[in-house]
Amino acid sequence: MQRTPSPRQHHPWRVFSTLTEWKLEWTDDLPAGTLGRTEFDAKRVLLANGMDQAERRCTIAHETQHILRGPYPAHRRLYEELTIDRKVSRLLIPSVRKIGHALAFHRADVEQAADELWVDEPILNVRLSSLAPRERAYMAEQMATILV
Ligand SMILES: [Zn+2]
Repeated sequence: MQRTPSPRQHHPWRVFSTLTEWKLEWTDDLPAGTLGRTEFDAKRVLLANGMDQAERRCTIAHETQHILRGPYPAHRRLYEELTIDRKVSRLLIPSVRKIGHALAFHRADVEQAADELWVDEPILNVRLSSLAPRERAYMAEQMATILV
């Protein structure tokens, strides 16, 4: 599918490219289910081969946030991952209206809606699970119109 990003859209690859001290490497060596890894000592981001475009986009956005936030102690890992995924989900899909339209159009099929929103399914799920109260109210209204 051809995509024409709007000027206000977040461009994760462009943001990463401004971090000129950091290298990017593609690898087959990450553990199964791990799509990316940020190595602070080596100033290197590893990305798994074989991701689709939306996964690559979400993963480089995620690893870029690790770089911007910096190293963290091991016991903060889950907090960091959740904080970063929430941030990335807002950066990549800021508009709750677009989310509502995509879910309505695809009859609440999250996988297809994610594809339309150019993100992977986990990031759309994070966005949906961390809606602000007003966004949640809007979404409930939208879903009520299609799920009756
Ligand atoms: Zn992470």
